[in-house]
Amino acid sequence: MAGIYIHIPFCRQKCTYCDFTSFPDRLGYAEAYMACVYKEMELRKEELKDVEFDTVYFGGGTPSVIDPKYILGAMNQIRKCFRLKKGAEVTIEMNPGTVDEKKIEIYRKAGINRYSVGLQTAIDSQLADLNRIHTARHFAHTATLLKGENFNADVMIGLKEQTFEDIRKTIDFAVLGGASHISLYALTAEDGTPIYTDYLNGLLPDEDTVADFYERSRAYLEEKGFARYEISNFCKPGRESRHNLNYWRRGEYVGFGVSACSFMRERRLTNTLDLDEYMKCVLSGFLPVVDAEDIDEKTARFEYVMLHLRTREGLSLSDFSARYGDFFERYRNAYEKTKAFLSVEGDTLRVKDEYLYVQNSVVVEYMEA
Ligand code: SF4
Repeated sequence: MAGIYIHIPFCRQKCTYCDFTSFPDRLGYAEAYMACVYKEMELRKEELKDVEFDTVYFGGGTPSVIDPKYILGAMNQIRKCFRLKKGAEVTIEMNPGTVDEKKIEIYRKAGINRYSVGLQTAIDSQLADLNRIHTARHFAHTATLLKGENFNADVMIGLKEQTFEDIRKTIDFAVLGGASHISLYALTAEDGTPIYTDYLNGLLPDEDTVADFYERSRAYLEEKGFARYEISNFCKPGRESRHNLNYWRRGEYVGFGVSACSFMRERRLTNTLDLDEYMKCVLSGFLPVVDAEDIDEKTARFEYVMLHLRTREGLSLSDFSARYGDFFERYRNAYEKTKAFLSVEGDTLRVKDEYLYVQNSVVVEYMEA
């Protein structure tokens, strides 16, 4: 199984915490940019002709901010250039305040069957503080448009002046709106973003408070019938994101667009982050790749452990052994140091539920082994 990612780098305005490749002032480039994305697919179709793709994901930026005809165009081009499996999962990220009935209709026609909506919080003052373009009312409208669809809502924790009651309200709002999947993310204040000043000024909740919010949110979501299947991801039965599961299983994927990454045959490629350079490169018939890395066995092994231990399904010891040799022999010291945090049930190694949120500090021990 392999996935296709398409990066749409346009947004109406920049959120205060955003360090993604997104351009709030370049919406006028959408037509030219998408023509380049179609062309980039053409450039890679020969190399990928034997790969069967099972998922497609439009991420950003805000994919829903551009004319939906480009999403339809991208899907037509994908079907023309690549082998897309019947029943493939096709997701689009969208922001409340950027969609209407007509757009959803065109998305359906394009084959979109999963939506990911950036709610973040149901508290309008917090949305305004993050410089989001929407209010809670916009989310309610989007949820109405998506009635009966398979959709995710993003929920953020660790916002300025946020209480657990605010998070509970946000979860209720998403669940009442019909979300069958919730991504629960802790805000990270990256250096260089406006919110970093709030962080330096001590205005954001501290780590212990965020960890406490996470734990209470997890319990609350589980009460509501949402099972955790990855550190930040919860869903109703059968509603896991297949596209993201592929990442955590260290599956292969190909990315198109500015800043997109691909991982195929143990090789990782990264496209340029510069929009003009991306377009110039593709128009001249070259791949816009600025970094190509062949993954050595030690790194591959570590990635395998790190990614699988993020998930509820855990790591299959027999699958690991078929690829890299016996797990306990390979990682004798690391396992001794971390076994209190891990559980082994039959063939499966997992981080114990209560330690999943601090999984990073467990897997770091496997880095040097
Ligand atoms: S909508 Fe997303 S990509 Fe766009 S500015 Fe906000 S956080 Fe960044």
